[in-house]
Amino acid sequence: MKIGVFALQGDVSEHVRMLNNAVKELEKNINVVELRGFENFNCDALIIPGGESTTMRKLMHDENGNDINKFLNFLGKISDEEIPILGTCAGLILLAKNVDNKFYDGLLDMEVKRNGYGRQRESFEADVCLKFNLNKTEKFHAIFIRAPVIEKVHKGEILAEFEGKAIAVKDKNVIGLTFHPELTNDTKIYKYFLNLI
Ligand code: GLN
Repeated sequence: MKIGVFALQGDVSEHVRMLNNAVKELEKNINVVELRGFENFNCDALIIPGGESTTMRKLMHDENGNDINKFLNFLGKISDEEIPILGTCAGLILLAKNVDNKFYDGLLDMEVKRNGYGRQRESFEADVCLKFNLNKTEKFHAIFIRAPVIEKVHKGEILAEFEGKAIAVKDKNVIGLTFHPELTNDTKIYKYFLNLI
């Protein structure tokens, strides 16, 4: 099995490191690869890292009219092989259907405000409760860096909240987080994600 990390820009190596740690802990046979182009995409799961969503959108436009939303929709909707997709921070922004009141062809039906907590100076860390597994909540130390705020979730489950707002959302095979699990040493979320494959 193969899991791809979208590697145009952002926290790519951090996700690769955490995925490899989680793979080891679960004793799974999964290769982690960095994806720079999407020709011959044949992964069993995809991570879209944090970084800068506007830059990623620009980098993903090509002369054939392909863009990131078309690509993600393609992945998310091939019904027989709906692969798990995890977007963190800028990655979550790329997955959203509504960003700063602009509409995109995203996979998560929610309204997101970029830099909703303020600029870099307002970045922060907080202990939050994850409801990733049924009947069990788990603590997680979440790191928010120029994080988006999820104003409304129209479809899907809320897996974690902070100050009354969703910070982790899941709709079927697609998960979005406003924080950065790749900057911790806690593999919980990766192990949960790998178990969805
Ligand atoms: N503010 C960034 C954006 O709009 C996201 C920040 C991040 O991924 N840490 O894309």
